[in-house]
Amino acid sequence: MTTVLLDRPAVAAADAPSRLVDPFGRAITYMRLSVTDRCNFRCVYCMAEKMTFLPHAKVLRLEELDRLCSIFVGLGVRKIRLTGGEPLVRRGIVNLVHSLSRRLRSHDLDELTLTTNGSQLSRYADELAACGVKRVNVSLDTLDAATFAAISRHGALADVLAGVEAADRAGLKVKINAVAQKGISEDCAVPLIRWAHGRGFDLTFIEVMPLGDVEGAWSQRFMPLAELRANLSRHLSLLPSLYRSSGPARYWQVEETGGRVGFITPMTHSFCDSCNRVRITCSGRMYLCLGNEAAVDLGKVLRESGEDHDVAAAIREAVALKPKGHAFGAREAGAPRGAARSISVTGG
Ligand code: SAM
Repeated sequence: MTTVLLDRPAVAAADAPSRLVDPFGRAITYMRLSVTDRCNFRCVYCMAEKMTFLPHAKVLRLEELDRLCSIFVGLGVRKIRLTGGEPLVRRGIVNLVHSLSRRLRSHDLDELTLTTNGSQLSRYADELAACGVKRVNVSLDTLDAATFAAISRHGALADVLAGVEAADRAGLKVKINAVAQKGISEDCAVPLIRWAHGRGFDLTFIEVMPLGDVEGAWSQRFMPLAELRANLSRHLSLLPSLYRSSGPARYWQVEETGGRVGFITPMTHSFCDSCNRVRITCSGRMYLCLGNEAAVDLGKVLRESGEDHDVAAAIREAVALKPKGHAFGAREAGAPRGAARSISVTGG
């Protein structure tokens, strides 16, 4: 495998005056990096049918993304999740993963992982595992091929299922993420749980957020997870679980399957108190919160300065802008307002 990337050291601890801590005392140790805003799917709650993507010149080269990651690692980031758009459609992505894996080997990074739609995993699962990736999150809302095609617009369920199998065979721990949707999850959630647990995968549902200029009203899709849980309880016995991951999900144990279901409720419950993450777009814009517009253009600093400490200083300034929590204000009549940018910009 070729390593095209610079072997820059992470900013030495001595050059990093202190770790990243936001104004509310939360240490920033988790970075989500959207490596591309492009995707081979057009999920209805995520993207418009016709999307305008960033011009290539604005997108940071893999070497630049690698440099940015190194600077964050030097500032105390311990976990990096590559996302998108679809991270596995970015050309050369495995080279970036391979390069970042040296931070795993040096124990500067605890975890390098990905969120993917799964469609390219058949091709990449083995290489990802060889690079030290241990887990992948695969987004999958339904096992019904027609419903899947309608949600993803451009996707084929068979490709995703083949990708999941490939990831499993490669020894990657798979977690399934499903967006709860009115009119869909009522029928699709139970088979999805049984399938995931039958294969030993965790599964997490998330409430749909009002993000991006997508067709259709958010309120027509929104299903509070309390409603989904009530619906599931008609078919499965759900027992509250004390299990906690590092993320915002709350878990329930499913008696019939022996597996766990997570619920992430950005719309109905706040979980921001323990937020330890920042999000970087493929052009190097750093967002402090999915549901907030505060951002700093690190890409500009990175391209204008050869000095990592200038970028580190810009990161510190950005962290000072981190809001206490996300806010979805009114946009559609009677519905919350989200950010105008799609989640495909900042990554899920
Ligand atoms: N392409 C990759 C994938 O499909 O997982 C990574 C990017 S995708 C934007 C990340 C996650 O965000 C997916 O699980 C997707 O379902 C979720 N997502 C997209 N739009 C959303 C929305 N409006 N509300 C909640 N989750 C959303």
